[in-house]
Amino acid sequence: MSDETRHIRWPWLAGALISFSLLVGLLLFAWAPGGVSSTRPIGSLEDVESLAEREDLNVLFILLDTLRADRLTPYGYERDTSPHLAALAEEGVRFDRHLAQSSWTKASMASMWTGLYPMRAGITRFDQVIPEDAKLPAERLSEAGFDTVGLYRNGWVSPNFGFGQGFDIYVKPGGRPMAPSVRRDNPTIKGSFSDEDVLYSAMEYLRVNGQGHWFLYLHLMDIHEYTYDEESALFGGDYSDVYDNSIRRVDALLGALFDFLDAQGLSDRTLVVVASDHGEAFRERGFEGHARAVFRESTEVPLLIRFPFRLEPGIVVSSRSRNIDIWPTLLDLLGLEGPSLTDGQSLVDVILAEGRGQSDEQMDSGISHLDTTWGRPDMPSRHAVAVVDGPYRYVRHTAGPSVQESLFDAEEDPLELQDLAEEQPEKLIELRARGVEYLETSPAWGEASTREIGEMELNQLRALGYAIP
Ligand SMILES: [Zn+2]
Repeated sequence: MSDETRHIRWPWLAGALISFSLLVGLLLFAWAPGGVSSTRPIGSLEDVESLAEREDLNVLFILLDTLRADRLTPYGYERDTSPHLAALAEEGVRFDRHLAQSSWTKASMASMWTGLYPMRAGITRFDQVIPEDAKLPAERLSEAGFDTVGLYRNGWVSPNFGFGQGFDIYVKPGGRPMAPSVRRDNPTIKGSFSDEDVLYSAMEYLRVNGQGHWFLYLHLMDIHEYTYDEESALFGGDYSDVYDNSIRRVDALLGALFDFLDAQGLSDRTLVVVASDHGEAFRERGFEGHARAVFRESTEVPLLIRFPFRLEPGIVVSSRSRNIDIWPTLLDLLGLEGPSLTDGQSLVDVILAEGRGQSDEQMDSGISHLDTTWGRPDMPSRHAVAVVDGPYRYVRHTAGPSVQESLFDAEEDPLELQDLAEEQPEKLIELRARGVEYLETSPAWGEASTREIGEMELNQLRALGYAIP
């Protein structure tokens, strides 16, 4: 069944248009001073532990494509880009040092869903497909009785690449005709649709099916596309400012979604997760964007969890965490069996220890990886790998026979711009060995199959801004 036929058979998506005025109303409501307070009760660490026994929990998984952590209010950014995410973090869990496993959507998302580092997931090139043998979280949740729905806007996570496994419904919501007034209010809008369409569809889904037992994955793209509107145009007009404006816009949309959950009586039985696949560079090292390197700006991302109750105060996890840990953690919280094969680990004990004031330093390392020739079928792999260990980050880029290495210490140099490779040769040698060892690992399910990608699909992917020849 094609995406198109799915749209037509989808009554709640057809109703999405109607909800436009609803969303506008909710946005105004969300922005009103002294708006609704959350309907969630206050909870304790014991409530976190006993989530696994609850049978009524839903999961709302929000993936904000291309969001670097240090641009968010809850991560200490000087601009108030994200008041709603700050409120969420204050009453939930914020992972302070969270690492994405790649800087390119497809490799990063394949790693997140499988819980395996990119080399082990085997998804590092543009034409590779996640094998059927992989057991993705949506499959586990579906078997556990959840209705599984994914609404995505990034073509790299399309079902053609194996990302739809386990979802009852997995679609790219279609656009609606865009009124001239919407274009006027959204000066940077490019396509015929935006994250608002995903949220209309999500709200319509929840309005009709919200009382069931569901897992809803929303993959949003306005930040990736630098879309903002007049309301969020607070931070100026250069490239980096516009990125902040778009975060502010998406944060407002999420505020409306959270109010909608409250209004529907769903907040006290929904686990909300906010994650990202990679960050974005702003010429820190002379180049912009993502999917090119694995330095901190394109791999340090946020992770926030909101429980169906409020924690007072919220928890900040200060030890290293990684996107491969997300699903082992969520399945553990839900009382479901974790992945049988994973490079990640459940962070539930880490959350509880932090909540009790005991910092857990046992796990403090992680890997990010990118095959920098992922979009060039005519070229052999050129690997970029970063090994993070405590405050250190070793970064290795290869191009044919040449190797470029750097070593940073975030404690002394938070932006990681001072290369210590020559000053600290022992650390360099130690982390290099781990990076090289990682690059020698093989895919857990054997070589991934590949598929032909038609010119039209390539054009859609190019429209996301990727340089595919
Ligand atoms: Zn992405």
